[in-house]
Amino acid sequence: MKGGFSSQGGYGGDYDVTVIGAGIIGSWIAREVSKFKVSIALLDKEPCPGFGVTKSGLSLMHAPDFCPPGTLKGRLCLNAPRRFKSLAHELGVKFREVDELWLALESSQIPNLEAAKKRGEEFGATGFQIIGPQKIRELEPNVTRKAVAALYVQGLGAVYPTEWSFALVENAVQNGARLHLNTSLLDIQRQPDGRYLVKTSRGLFRTRYLINAAGLFADEVATMVGDRTIQLILTKGTMAILDKSVSHLVRHMIYGTLSAKHSQVIAPTAHGNLILGLGYFTQPESKSDTRVDRGKLQEVIEMGKELVPSLSEDDIITSFAGIRSENNKTKKGDFYISHSEHAPGVIHAIIGSPGLTAAPAVADMVIGMLVDAGCQMEERPDFQRERRSWKRFSSSSGEEQEALIASNSKFGHITCRCEKVTEAEIVDATHRGAQTLDAVKHLTRAGMGRCQGGFCGPRVFQLLHKELNIPINQVTKKGDPSFVVAGPVGVPSPSDQGVMNSEKG
Ligand SMILES: Cc1cc2nc3c(=O)[nH]c(=O)nc-3n(C[C@H](O)[C@H](O)[C@H](O)COP(=O)(O)OP(=O)(O)OC[C@H]3O[C@@H](n4cnc5c(N)ncnc54)[C@H](O)[C@@H]3O)c2cc1C
Repeated sequence: MKGGFSSQGGYGGDYDVTVIGAGIIGSWIAREVSKFKVSIALLDKEPCPGFGVTKSGLSLMHAPDFCPPGTLKGRLCLNAPRRFKSLAHELGVKFREVDELWLALESSQIPNLEAAKKRGEEFGATGFQIIGPQKIRELEPNVTRKAVAALYVQGLGAVYPTEWSFALVENAVQNGARLHLNTSLLDIQRQPDGRYLVKTSRGLFRTRYLINAAGLFADEVATMVGDRTIQLILTKGTMAILDKSVSHLVRHMIYGTLSAKHSQVIAPTAHGNLILGLGYFTQPESKSDTRVDRGKLQEVIEMGKELVPSLSEDDIITSFAGIRSENNKTKKGDFYISHSEHAPGVIHAIIGSPGLTAAPAVADMVIGMLVDAGCQMEERPDFQRERRSWKRFSSSSGEEQEALIASNSKFGHITCRCEKVTEAEIVDATHRGAQTLDAVKHLTRAGMGRCQGGFCGPRVFQLLHKELNIPINQVTKKGDPSFVVAGPVGVPSPSDQGVMNSEKG
């Protein structure tokens, strides 16, 4: 396999700090730890960072008014957009400023908005305004006429969390972190010298400090170190993405009803679509039950139409579901960020919603806890803040596009027509660690448009085969065993007939 950070290895190694889970939480922690003179390993069972819950949320920054009074999570959400905005530049990833309108659809709901404003202000946040119908329509002409008032919050934003996780990890690796993808944690044993022996599906290594950022599986990781009382309570929400042709309908994140039981929201995404969610939460059958139920999707569409009546189900290009978690160790659905009760040097970062928003502050908190646990954290003078750039053809100016094509003719070959993703971007992504169809899709956006990969999917398949230099029956959708082609094949060559030629059209 050529290049790419997923080839970073070194099993059998010794690390100061090991992070379990490369979701937005583990990725952010890894990047922050890489600012210090400590050796760090990051492992994830998936083939790409950000492929757990991180991949399956609304991807919006929340103001602290979403969090119950006095909670840690409310405090950690404060100033999040500012953190994301400044880092977006260093990492070369998208941060889109989006303001929020939380609607009251009848006057009896206005006290909810006032209570939310008070909550937010008690956390120290500013910029909340209650506005009337005229201002609502000025801001959002397509919103329902039933809206009698709204809580207007400025200065929030939308990001694409998988892109962020990948960028954070790439930057951590650039600064010396070792990444172990496709690597499942199986067991942890404390050794007589106080270090931990970490047993994984791909080998053993040792670590002095261990951060549990395993998302929905954090309870299982906690059990491995003797913390057997942590339980997660899971709920599932459904989302739909709309075609870019209707993106003009909504400019703000628009919420209607919002509670522990349900959520009604339509909002712009970082990359210019609209996202619709989440309906009444249900209980998933298992931690991997992200199936979309037709009835649930219908409920989400109806809830969206209550907010913006002109929405049409015909404009939905894809749908997905995500599993949210709360834990039994804290009240009011708060985060559990704590030193282990039984294993010195182990820190649990067990996060629920809004974990994306809180991720920068969670990472800061974990760094402080590492210091408390005795980890020597001396800053590295040679820390590289900026990630190697990731060229995006579609968002470049005409002049920049010409320069890109002049530098590499593959920028002149559009592979994904819906999202205008070039062959050069896909080739670069495969070399940087996107080694499955889904990883290419989530990192480059090839396959994210109206046709959902119907046209570009076979071309991306061919590029993966060629650039990774693997047989076509080893190309996967999302890692082993999701092989795209079944059965034995002859010696692969990009110029082969059959499957390959049919993809050139
Ligand atoms: C429907 C929905 C909507 C949401 N909307 C928002 C929103 O708009 N704004 C917001 O701020 N938050 C939102 N959230 C919450 C947010 O998405 C999560 O809090 C956040 O993504 C959690 O990140 P994480 O890194 O803790 O977990 P994950 O992303 O799940 O990362 C954990 C990682 O650990 C790995 N792992 C687990 N077990 C093992 C093991 N044994 N070995 C190796 N690796 C392992 C997994 O593969 C995974 O990659 C939403 C969540 C959902 C479900």
